[in-house]
Amino acid sequence: MKINHNFLNLQESYLFSTVGAKFAAYKKAHPEKNVIKLSIGDVTLPLAPAVIAAMHAAVEDMSKRETFKGYGPDQTCYGYETLIRSIRGSYARKGVMLNDGEIFISDGAKSDLANILDIFSAENTVLVPDPVYPVYVDTNVMAGRKIVFADANEENGFLPMPDRRVDADIVYICSPNNPTGAAYSRDRLKAWVDYANERGAVILYDAAYEAFIEDGSLARSIYEVEGARDCAIEICSYSKTAGFTGVRCGYTVVPDTLTREGVRLGKLWARRQSTKFNGVSYITQMGAAAVFTEEGERQIAENIAYYKRNAKTIAATLDRLGIPYTGGINSPYVWMKCPYGMKSWEFFDYLLENANVVGTPGSGFGKNGEGYFRLTAFATAENTAEACRRMEDLFGSR
Ligand code: PLP
Repeated sequence: MKINHNFLNLQESYLFSTVGAKFAAYKKAHPEKNVIKLSIGDVTLPLAPAVIAAMHAAVEDMSKRETFKGYGPDQTCYGYETLIRSIRGSYARKGVMLNDGEIFISDGAKSDLANILDIFSAENTVLVPDPVYPVYVDTNVMAGRKIVFADANEENGFLPMPDRRVDADIVYICSPNNPTGAAYSRDRLKAWVDYANERGAVILYDAAYEAFIEDGSLARSIYEVEGARDCAIEICSYSKTAGFTGVRCGYTVVPDTLTREGVRLGKLWARRQSTKFNGVSYITQMGAAAVFTEEGERQIAENIAYYKRNAKTIAATLDRLGIPYTGGINSPYVWMKCPYGMKSWEFFDYLLENANVVGTPGSGFGKNGEGYFRLTAFATAENTAEACRRMEDLFGSR
């Protein structure tokens, strides 16, 4: 018996456990201090009433023989038509027309980002931005793929552009980005689409934060860009759009026109899913279907607006303090440069001890994150405003 030795090549991720441990140790030593966490990467507002009502109705369906549901429909990889249609409608409102068979329902973006790799050879080289959501790197390390990095830094506004000297088969793009909050315009994304189409690469486009985009020049879907249907798979989630982090629902789009080696990738993905996946619960899918109704959209927009006000409060504070940052407008994340030339962990300790505010050290997201710090908009408005007041007091007299 041999284990998968690739797992031994994974770097231990101490990021969130170390943040949690340092927070707990500080609280223990200073129980009287009100420490505010701007490190929260999870939503905090409850589900929209339209979602709750739809889930209640679905529970009722499950209680009666006539409306009870077992496994979901096989033809659509267990996605219910009501949900697939509502996703199709939401894309149509962005000007993107999809066929029902191109939409696959999942239990969230993380699983699909990892599982989609099953349909690609382990011999492919993957291109991953640095810094970024660590799942892209770890899933490919597990499969033993060669990884090359695209540097995201101050010079390129944390939006790396294709370098034609780099030969990659799979390209990850996360826009708006976690952790930097930077988001691609359609024009910039077009360069990546051209790069992928020129060399027959496939883009895995993570749109988990698309609902936070307000600037009309930024892409909410890669399919807003010409040529993307021939090279891109889009992975999205209800987690941050509608507060489903604990409910679990997402979707992946594999266009019918996306083929490699003469094979339609949607066919491979459907085969993979029907073998290794048994769908998302009916109750969850009905709740998700309510998100893109008129009422649901209005209600989730209120929640997103709440987080966005927090992000803007943080961004405005950094503006006043003259501290450079990205994000904060089309994203729940604000990626700030650590003041006084501090390193990420050094700044973590400084901010915790002097302002009783916790954030996430940028170095945990990749080597280019060193010297940066991620603040999030998911705390309460009151705590966000108070944390910002403390930062102004601390850095205002620089
Ligand atoms: N993609 C990015 C960039 C994320 O930040 C996250 C969660 O934080 C996910 C995907 C995972 O989302 P889900 O809850 O749908 O698995």
